[in-house]
This record gives sequence, structure tokens and C-alpha cells, in this order.
Amino acid sequence: MALSSGQTEQLRRMIESRRQVLQAELHDGVDRARENNFEDLAGPAPDAADESVATLIGDIDHADVSRDMTELRALDAARERIEQGSYGVCLDCGAEIEFERLRAAPAALRCIGCQRLREKTYASPTGSSL
Ligand SMILES: [Zn+2]
Repeated sequence: MALSSGQTEQLRRMIESRRQVLQAELHDGVDRARENNFEDLAGPAPDAADESVATLIGDIDHADVSRDMTELRALDAARERIEQGSYGVCLDCGAEIEFERLRAAPAALRCIGCQRLREKTYASPTGSSL
């Protein structure tokens, strides 16, 4: 275990505060989605162009929410690993994940070497940082 208890504690606090930010964002996103419902955006007698704009805005909001949800789940999983004592161990090679990497991405599952390899193998246009 390369992480000291102080380092683990620091990362745990980072995960907690990030979770709170995300939960607040998700809450706002749901409120916004309720306010900007389709009828409000498109107006009482929408023509085709208005409808497509409303659909587009709806899709963007949805993408934000699902991205936040994905990150929140990753942070939940990281918190679980801290409880179980398996946090900071690379999923692929079993080596310890560098503290600096965890500070930048507390939910990271892999060491930098394995992550780079994975990004090369499964190159995706969105380029996940986790
Ligand atoms: Zn690795």
C-alpha cells in the first residue's frame, strides 16, 4: 500500500466534496429540466424549427445529467474501495496507482501506464479521463 493513511484521507475528502458538487449539479439539472419542459421551449404553437431546437436543448441537458451520473457512480465506487482497502490499486496490472494521478482523478481505476494502453486500444472520440 503506497498511500499513507493521511493521503487516503485527503483523497477521501476530495471524493466527498466532489460528490456533493455533483449531487447539487444533478439536483439543479433536474429542476432546470422541469422548468424547461418541451412545451415551454417550443411555445404554444410550435413549428418544426422550434421543435427541433427544444429537442436539441433537451438532449444537451440529458447529456450533462448522464455525465454527472457516471462520475457520481465512479466516485461512489471509489469510496467503496477505500472502505474495502482496495483503493489505489490498478485494476489491470495490480500495481499501486500514483498518488498524483489519484489527486487529479480520485476515481481512477488504473495506473497511468495501463490507462494509456487502454486509451490506445479503445480509442474513443470522447476520450474518458478515468
Ligand atoms: Zn496498471
